[in-house]
Amino acid sequence: MQQVQPRVAMFGGTFDPVHLGHLRSAVELREALGLDCVHMLPAARPPLREVPGVSAEHRLELLQLGIGDTPGLVADGRELKRSGPSYSADTLTELRAEYGDQARLVMALGHDAFLRLADWHAPERLFELAHVVVMERPDHGAALSVALGELIAGRDVQTADQLMASPAGGLLRLSLPTRMAVSATEVRQRLASGRSVRYLLTAEVERRLLALGLYGAGDG
Ligand code: ATP
Repeated sequence: MQQVQPRVAMFGGTFDPVHLGHLRSAVELREALGLDCVHMLPAARPPLREVPGVSAEHRLELLQLGIGDTPGLVADGRELKRSGPSYSADTLTELRAEYGDQARLVMALGHDAFLRLADWHAPERLFELAHVVVMERPDHGAALSVALGELIAGRDVQTADQLMASPAGGLLRLSLPTRMAVSATEVRQRLASGRSVRYLLTAEVERRLLALGLYGAGDG
């Protein structure tokens, strides 16, 4: 009998703060690929962007609140425990060691993040460790750079089943059912100017963030 291998995704980000675009994408990603779980990991020190104004601990706390009891989603704080930049290659190495050689490991990211993949630390290594799954995102449809084209050459697969036939190395583009034009930038701008963020975040995340006065938000 064929052994069933674990199917696990890593979904990293700044999560500054986590919003419904992140959470709904994670739920639909899990469904689309039949994943056992999706590790959502706030980057302590995102290598390619400015240091977030809100601490990694607060971003993790909001992520935990956002996930709540959602089946299969895990708020994973491991990148907060490492020093130096938060490289996905290091995180995938750890997940690979935990789940084993034959596990189907996926690194999930939105199209905007994917566009910069060739600039990441050890991009070839990412494909040795995992499959890459790119989620379409409204308003983010720009073309790929030459370097990115070279990185992904020959890796495309068309279906989740094809992807799951091997432990790593493929590239799948997904158009998930609910594509949301929500960004953390928009959420931060709204909070800073006292505008509503209702229904862009979960109620728990909104409540906590207002209570803490994060992103310049007032309480009430
Ligand atoms: P910012 O506006 O600060 O750049 P963001 O909303 O893009 O933030 P990040 O934490 O930078 O959020 O994103 C983490 C990951 O989630 C990235 O791979 C990004 O592409 C993806 N992502 C963010 N928002 C969405 C969304 N609305 N739909 C699908 N994927 C998303």
